[in-house]
Amino acid sequence: MSLLTIAIHPDPVLRKVAKPVAPEDIEGLRPLLDDMAETMHAAPGVGLAGPQVSVSKRLIVVDVGEPIMMSQDDVPSETPRTSRLYHLINPVIRDRDGTLEWEEGCLSLPELLVPMERSARVTVEALNADGDPITLHGEGLLAIVLQHEIDHLDGKLILDHVGRIKRNLYIDRLKKSRRA
Ligand SMILES: [Zn+2]
Repeated sequence: MSLLTIAIHPDPVLRKVAKPVAPEDIEGLRPLLDDMAETMHAAPGVGLAGPQVSVSKRLIVVDVGEPIMMSQDDVPSETPRTSRLYHLINPVIRDRDGTLEWEEGCLSLPELLVPMERSARVTVEALNADGDPITLHGEGLLAIVLQHEIDHLDGKLILDHVGRIKRNLYIDRLKKSRRA
């Protein structure tokens, strides 16, 4: 496995509508999905979409894990999480319900947090890494990450939900920090 380079805004790959994965191509995707999961965990992040590693295909990896309860006198610097990894190919939101506000970040938009309104619960249909159809019911953080990553497949970014002035300031700051 190896770490992949994460595409950073304004990389044009982030704005392309990703192509569906053909059934005959699923078998060969395993190494890419493994690399995407490793890259997401290393970042660290809770979701990563194909376009974010310059692969304009409809695939995402998601792992919001489940927090482990720690005793109070044994607080680690980083809270370890159990892993609950999903590989989702050609994911589609079939049903959504409720609303939830959350301040979202994105590995392709360093140091940006955007308050977003999302559906509180989503039902997602996809194929898993074996090409089998699966249905995933997400709520809370999992619902948010699924919506965020599926947006990436359509070329949408949380930056689109930032007002023009704040957006321009952020883009200037991003350019400067990349030059430095
Ligand atoms: Zn993102």
